[in-house]
Parts: sequence; C-alpha cells; structure tokens
Amino acid sequence: MKITSNFDSGNIEVVRIDEKKNDIKLRIRKDTNSDFFQWFHFRLTGAAGIPCKLSIVNAGKSSYPLGWENYNVCVSYDREEWFRIPATFRSGSLNFQFKSVHDSVYFAYFAPYSFERHLDLVHQAQMAEDVRMEIVGKTFLGRDMEMLIIGKPRKNKKVIWVIARQHPGEPMAEWFIEGFLERLLDKSDSVSRMVLEKAYFYVVPNMNVDGSIAGNLRASASGANLNREWKKPTLKHSPEVYHVLKKMDETGVNLLLDVHGDEELPYNFIAASEGIPSYNEWLASMENKFINHWMDTCPDFQNLHKYPLDKFGEANMTLASNAIAERFGCLSLTIEMPFKDNADMPDKRYGWSDQRSKILGASVLNPVLHVLDDLK
Ligand code: ZN
Repeated sequence: MKITSNFDSGNIEVVRIDEKKNDIKLRIRKDTNSDFFQWFHFRLTGAAGIPCKLSIVNAGKSSYPLGWENYNVCVSYDREEWFRIPATFRSGSLNFQFKSVHDSVYFAYFAPYSFERHLDLVHQAQMAEDVRMEIVGKTFLGRDMEMLIIGKPRKNKKVIWVIARQHPGEPMAEWFIEGFLERLLDKSDSVSRMVLEKAYFYVVPNMNVDGSIAGNLRASASGANLNREWKKPTLKHSPEVYHVLKKMDETGVNLLLDVHGDEELPYNFIAASEGIPSYNEWLASMENKFINHWMDTCPDFQNLHKYPLDKFGEANMTLASNAIAERFGCLSLTIEMPFKDNADMPDKRYGWSDQRSKILGASVLNPVLHVLDDLK
C-alpha cells in the first residue's frame, strides 16, 4: 500500500501505514510559508480489494474544523468523475473507510482543477471570437497570470471583472469560471449575446497559480492570503493582487465578481459590501436586485444562509470585494460555493460538485444581464 501526493495540487503526509490492520494515518501539510491548512489531495495504490481505514489525524487543528462536520470525501478512479464517500469527524480526526475496486485511487477535499486544465481553459477561450488573452503579471514564483479580455471594444460599455481562486484550495471557483466562459462564449445563447453587446469582460480564472500547484488552501507561495491584500498589495509579498489592481485602475470597474468556496456553510451565497464607508442606497438596491434575480432564476442559489452582515463602516477593507466597491463606487460581490453540498438540494452521490459549480457559473449571467443597464 502506498500513498503519494507529489503531484500538481497534491497535499498529504503519511504518519503511519499499518499493513496488517489496513490502517492508514495521514496529516495535511501546512500551506507554503503559512499556518493555514485544510486542502488535501492524494493517491492510494496497491490497495485494490482491501478494506482500508483512513484517518486525517490533524483535521481538528485545520483552519476550519467545522468544515469537517457533515463533510463527505471526494474520490476518483479516472480523475474525471469525483464521487463522495461518507466520513466522520471524531476527536479531531477525519475518518473514512474505502475498499478500492482498482489499483489506483485518488482522494481530495474537492474535485481538483489542475494546472493543465487551467491552461487548456484559457487557450481554448482565446480562440473564440472577440477574445484576447493577456499576461496581467507574474506570480511570486514568476509564473504567468493569464487574463481573458472578452467582447468587442466599444465606447460606453460596462466593464465587468471576474476573478477566481484567490484561495487556491477552492477549485470550485475555477469550475465556476469554466461554466461561466462556456456560456458567455456560446453564440447561440441570447443572454450571453445581449450581455456582450453591453459589457466588456476581464476574467482572471486563477489568481493564485503558485498556491494551486503547491496544494495550498489559502496562501500564495509567499504565504500571503491574497484576499486580505487589497488595501495595499505589494510587488514583494502579493504581486498577484498588485498587478490585477493596477490593471483595474486602467480599465475602471463597473462590476466585480470574486469567486470562492466556503468550508463550513452548505449553501451558495453572496457576501456584499454593506460595511464599507461609502455604502449607499443605490449600492444596496443593486445588491438586492442581483441577489433576488439570481434566486428567481437558479434554485441552487439562496440568500438565507450567509456570513453575518458587517455593520456600516466596519467592513474589512483588505478584502477584494470591499476594497473594489469602495475604490470604484461599483457593485462588487464575493460569491461563495460549498465544499460540502447545497443542503437545500442535496446530491448524495456527488455533493456539491465540479459539474454543479460549472452550471452555477453559467447561471450567473442571468443576474448580470438583469443589473447591467443600472451599473455605474
Ligand atoms: Zn476563499
């Protein structure tokens, strides 16, 4: 029996493998230069037909221990289909049992979105009409950061920014972008055509390429939590945010969607900018208009279960959505998807999944169109 994680977005350490009892004890490694940890992704080989007991013994010390309550582990034989197996969280340990049908099997916190798939995504997208790909900057480790620019340039178009995976261990965010792009670039979709008539898009599908490859939950390679860097990003510590913010200053922003996953809440929801100093009635009405329309058109999205609202003037201004709402006076939303499942519409076999994230990403174009004329 062997456990490995020495690959793209792999993360696990072996504490002990007891081959007599088929008992495997594991630990999640900390993010690069950071104390965050929660993301895991590893491979088990040589265990076909053997009922194995697996435990992640440091789960209780992870960044979001409540994330393990009612959480089921993602498993794949072919690295395409990721089904769930039940897990229990007891005495600080995440425990699950599995008898592999095949010689090699992968386990992960959520269906991974690989670096290769990321490159396929941006290269396939650039071949569509009116799409350009630009390197917006370099990451801490010197990797390219790809940005897609979508739409015919024309005066008075609204500028919409969509960014994802500031937190690299939230791959549902890039699955969301994949579904979003597929629909936006579908010429037979009337919603997309209408949106592109009126808007110009800047899309950064992966803000944290280094952290994604490293198998981190929240940190970049420098150890920065990129979604706490938007007040004063630096080239030294958070170049990823520095470059994107600089580009935003050039283009202006009429709408920002920042896409994430939430470890604890089993729902899709939005965090808005009600706590920023310049919050006003117009912004409140725009947030409501967007949220209500999304709820009306997509049963997977809801607005009951979400983060506690910020008090006026008490927002954390280091977050992208708050910082951008304040800087540009625009509608600016953080979109959160679950790691667990959508408790309103549970799916026993897959939980919240790559496929469902893609469909949600496509669905966001409805509220985008709905608010488009009123954006400023
Ligand atoms: Zn996040």
